Amino acid sequence: MMDFSGKVSLVTGESLGIGEAIALDLAQVGAEVVLLDIQKDKLEEVTQRIHQDGGKAAAYEVDVSQFDRVAEVIDTVIKNHGKVDHLVNNAGITRDNLLMRMKEEEWDAVIAVNLKGIFNLSKAVIRPMMSNRYGRIVNISSVVGMMGNAGQTNYSASKAGLVGFTKSLAREVASRGVTVNAVAPGYIATAMTKSLPDAVKESFMKVIPLKRFGTAEDVAQTVTFLCSDKAGYITGQIIQVNGGLLM
Ligand code: NAP
Repeated sequence: MMDFSGKVSLVTGESLGIGEAIALDLAQVGAEVVLLDIQKDKLEEVTQRIHQDGGKAAAYEVDVSQFDRVAEVIDTVIKNHGKVDHLVNNAGITRDNLLMRMKEEEWDAVIAVNLKGIFNLSKAVIRPMMSNRYGRIVNISSVVGMMGNAGQTNYSASKAGLVGFTKSLAREVASRGVTVNAVAPGYIATAMTKSLPDAVKESFMKVIPLKRFGTAEDVAQTVTFLCSDKAGYITGQIIQVNGGLLM
């Protein structure tokens, strides 16, 4: 069993989907989990669940796309919790449209949260992690960042963009004991995929060798592993959790 006692894990975006599962999984192995989300009520729900299960959690309201606000919140987190051992950049949005119809705002919103958000958070934690000679950064990409998906030029670009970010930062900070990896989920059963029409869901099943959508826990357990000491020799990697959809 992994033991994250004494570790501080920061997770962004934890409504009802993958972020919540990541936060719960990290808390279950003993980490003190710091939740960052744009919505206060969601934060309170997840914090309470962790407390009820006997875990440690604290929550801060922040829009990850706001550079100055992120820096300010991370300063407060470090004052209150002493350090950040793990950063999981999970917050992400979609604004789907075919490119010919896509509005500039739809492009900008997705890039601001999914890509600039990762820059903002990583920038704010990187110096403290480097001076502690320890850190784990895990960015949540997507299979569509590698395969493409009609109607998601903005989202796919952001999820492919973070792959280059992950590999570059991994090279910059490896000598200081900090690893940087990404997890690329396939089709995961969450609010984001629930709204898909049945015909679309059936067509996905045909191309997923494991014949099921993934669960948020499938992704969470991979993230926890990458944050653990068992993954100490893994950096700059993109781990696919997609049921074999893309090999
Ligand atoms: P979700 O349920 O919509 O969760 C995303 C979370 O991010 C929500 O809590 C959301 O808050 C929060 N968020 C959005 N904008 C934010 C901002 N500016 N600042 C801070 N937090 C913000 O989505 P999910 O399905 O769990 O996805 C989690 C991650 O996995 C995303 O990066 C997504 O791209 C990726 N992913 C998902 C799938 C899938 O099949 N579900 C597949 C591949 C990758 P609100 O609820 O208030 O908007």
